[in-house]
Amino acid sequence: MQIASNIVILPPVKLVRMHVYTHRPQISAAVANIKKKGLKIGFVPTMGALHRGHASLFDFAQKNCDVVVVSIFVNPTQFNNPQDLETYPRDLQADLAFLEGINPEILVFAPGTTTIYGANVKSLDFDFAGLDSVMEGAFRPGHFEGVATVLKYLFEIVQPDLAFFGEKDYQQLQIIKRLVELEKLPVEIIGCPISRHEDGLAESSRNQRLSKQHREAAPFIYKTLMQAKALFNDKSTSEVEAFVENEFKDHALFNLEYFEIANASSLAHASEKKENEHYRAFIAAFADDVRLIDNIALN
Ligand code: AMP
Repeated sequence: MQIASNIVILPPVKLVRMHVYTHRPQISAAVANIKKKGLKIGFVPTMGALHRGHASLFDFAQKNCDVVVVSIFVNPTQFNNPQDLETYPRDLQADLAFLEGINPEILVFAPGTTTIYGANVKSLDFDFAGLDSVMEGAFRPGHFEGVATVLKYLFEIVQPDLAFFGEKDYQQLQIIKRLVELEKLPVEIIGCPISRHEDGLAESSRNQRLSKQHREAAPFIYKTLMQAKALFNDKSTSEVEAFVENEFKDHALFNLEYFEIANASSLAHASEKKENEHYRAFIAAFADDVRLIDNIALN
């Protein structure tokens, strides 16, 4: 806006003043400095496109640790579908502004692929004792090896005391706990509850790719999970599964990929209910080409 010939008032510019590290030497120096002071590091690994679901993890980390480190890295080895990797939303400036709005003291690690993998962009091999052969693992071959590989590298760099993961990706959470055991990594894994929109849809970076029609209809997924939970009290697991499959058969907008009732710790398919065991229901469905997942504790 020009108010006199020699005075120009510029519109406000939003300056992001987060600490952003992109290379190993910088983040390692920052980590060493934090460790020297005896402070506790809480780590939240993400792939960016941050939303309130991620924010709920930052909140848990802040409440339980002295320093919070958030990584933003779209990990190529965990995508079994190259098109999914290509279309994954990326906007670092928007993510930094989002983080700054939460707490400008959060440290951000936003490496490039070479910083993490060098020239060898490949997954390592792990024995997840069957945790990776069901559900997401069955439909996304190689996905969990990719997730575990990047986390092993990130944990080695960030050296967190605690690391926070959402139950939104419940199978991933179980696999990470196993990874930490297998590799004897000195980090405690904390699972955090699923954050949802008011209409029940689980928050996800993929939701922004839903058409208006699909977004409006998407609470159907959570509603069906809630119905499954109610039925689980007095129906068999196969009856509950048949109910859900039927609900989806009649739905014009969503294609069910799987619905599964599994033991909450082994993730083994639950063909019968046993006393003193915990069960969860897991779902994956397509809204056009957008793949949505959700899950719920049944007992
Ligand atoms: P992502 O960026 O999708 O890799 O997710 C990073 C972390 O945020 C993972 O631990 C996810 O489980 C977690 N997360 C994503 N969405 C949600 C949500 N709606 N509620 C809780 N945690 C979530």
